Amino acid sequence: MSDPLTTVRENLARVEERIHAAARDAGRSRDEVRLVGVTKYVNAATAALLAQAGCHDLGESRPQELWAKAEAAEFADLPVRWHAVGHLQRNKVNRTIPLVAIVHSVDSVRLLKAIDACAAGLGVVRDALLEVNCSGDPEKHGVAPEDLPAVIQRLPEFPRVHIRGLMTMAAREGGLEVARRNFARLRELRDQAAIGAPEGVELTELSMGMSADFEAAIAEGATIVRVGTALWEGLAD
Ligand SMILES: *Cc1c(COP(=O)(O)O)cnc(C)c1O
Repeated sequence: MSDPLTTVRENLARVEERIHAAARDAGRSRDEVRLVGVTKYVNAATAALLAQAGCHDLGESRPQELWAKAEAAEFADLPVRWHAVGHLQRNKVNRTIPLVAIVHSVDSVRLLKAIDACAAGLGVVRDALLEVNCSGDPEKHGVAPEDLPAVIQRLPEFPRVHIRGLMTMAAREGGLEVARRNFARLRELRDQAAIGAPEGVELTELSMGMSADFEAAIAEGATIVRVGTALWEGLAD
């Protein structure tokens, strides 16, 4: 058995190869797609190996896990940008916002308002994405597609939150075909929303695609893919 860092390097190389191939097939440049390594399956020491291997964008879905990892000694000397990718409750905003570069999962005006207030207190402007429930799954978080234009119209009320684009989670059921339709939907929603968006709102980012379906997401215009499982194969935590 090889050592864990070697395993992580090999997994990362394989994911990189898949991203390159998907971008090439879509007639896009590799540089248009950012890889976020999702660390929720592993502890801080193992997660830090991914940063050592060269992936400096790391994502966590649970706020408490994010706090623990971002503040762990293993990351002290590593230049990591943390991404909050899962549901963020308002009572977790104040501890989360100082630690992250971007929040992927803004799903309500109330959350926007809480992040805005927190960022104002810190004297920063925080990047974020609006999560959209493209699959219609009632168990999924995210703004309903029909409510998206109204939320976007309100963005100027929250100048400390810089909404850079949209994020979605594909339906669990239905396989690649349904996932790809969800991704296409997010791109179309973005294109429509961009037309009527208030001055200064640019929705350039599309965060979509995970281990099983990120090629489909890249084909549909993903600029950020969030990959967990494929990066941790062969590693016991
Ligand atoms: C777990 C998770 C991912 C990564 O999923 P994998 O299928 O393990 O690649 C991406 N985004 C979010 C929000 C997640 O919770």
